Amino acid sequence: MKIVKKHSINRWKITALLMLLIVVVLNGTTAKAQVIDECMLDSTTLLMELDSTAKLTANSIYGYDFTMRGEMKVLIIYAGFTNDQETNSIGLIWPYDDGINPPGKSFPNNTWNLFYDDYSDFSPNNTDQSISNFYYQMSLPSGNPVKMIAGVFPERINVPADSAINLSINPWDTYATWVYDSIQANYPGYDFSAFDNRTNYPNYQYDNSTSNPDSIIDYVVLIWRYAKNCLTDPAGDSTLCTNFYSSTSVAGIVGHQFTDALGDSTYSINAGFRTHPGFWGINKTTFTHEVAHTNYGAPHTNAANNAVGSYFYNNFGWGMMKSGSTPNVYDCASGWERWYLGWIELTANNNTTPTDIKTIADLQNGGVYTLHDFIKTGDVIRVRLPQDTTQFLWLENHAGANIFDNR
Ligand SMILES: [Zn+2]
Repeated sequence: MKIVKKHSINRWKITALLMLLIVVVLNGTTAKAQVIDECMLDSTTLLMELDSTAKLTANSIYGYDFTMRGEMKVLIIYAGFTNDQETNSIGLIWPYDDGINPPGKSFPNNTWNLFYDDYSDFSPNNTDQSISNFYYQMSLPSGNPVKMIAGVFPERINVPADSAINLSINPWDTYATWVYDSIQANYPGYDFSAFDNRTNYPNYQYDNSTSNPDSIIDYVVLIWRYAKNCLTDPAGDSTLCTNFYSSTSVAGIVGHQFTDALGDSTYSINAGFRTHPGFWGINKTTFTHEVAHTNYGAPHTNAANNAVGSYFYNNFGWGMMKSGSTPNVYDCASGWERWYLGWIELTANNNTTPTDIKTIADLQNGGVYTLHDFIKTGDVIRVRLPQDTTQFLWLENHAGANIFDNR
């Protein structure tokens, strides 16, 4: 493949088995940003706006709420309503009666399709499409990949849906607090130590994968058995379903401090996300989307997006911000995302040749590069566009060698 630019870069070639271009859209004011209605940023917990200088130089190799490398254990809390009207079970991922727990206290049946429960489960050759394997494969070229596993709070926590609070700004904040109150009442002094292995919120400044526990649960995901079906609203027809937040996941979690039976502080919650219409259990697309919000302030576009400026609006390609409701090409992270998080470097030829091409002087080997499989090797090429200091073309070779190159 030969690429010729009219201006500063002439007559250079890139050879590759196959190359696909991430489309660059030049200006955020003219880009048509995709708005999805399934997710809300919680502005009270996400204060990550970078100034203009930082946006041009920033990376997120250490992350905001946690560092995307090494071992990480997420706590999943499944919640529901005591007055749940969705009493079906047949064929549901999250049946009303799972045949194990009392009816109405069921768990979804897909948790362990999406997460490993032991760090020894990871292997470069794994081909499952779990969230655990996704982060691991995407970060494997770094040499210190993310090994994200999960644990589930042992009881499904039910609280009463109350029509009296449905007109509040976000009744789900209240319900989240009631879940915590229930845990506090029934499990005083509960040992959350398995979920506290890091010091939360490195704030992009240091690698918290090797930090110490801080009595704050590292990451909490609160998922509700709620279908947003107005005819079966738990507090009565067309009550909770009319609230805006009933159709959303929220990037951010309601904080809480747990205590023991003597009232002394034990563990607290300050990081994570929640899904209100979680009737279908945990979802990989939602998970990577919300974690990208909380981890590095990703907005609602794929590709490089507005985390570092008004660039790379790319809603229908591939990346961790893709919406489940829009078409997508691959199930993998984008080159920009992997580079921004420190999972890959700007290299080709099996990670050996620098490919950060800003001027013709940066060309290596006469401008001949080989891009091996993008997911497996992390090979990418980044080319600054002629006569522009801040716009880049990214090249990736999706050879289809990995399960996450599937649609
Ligand atoms: Zn979102």
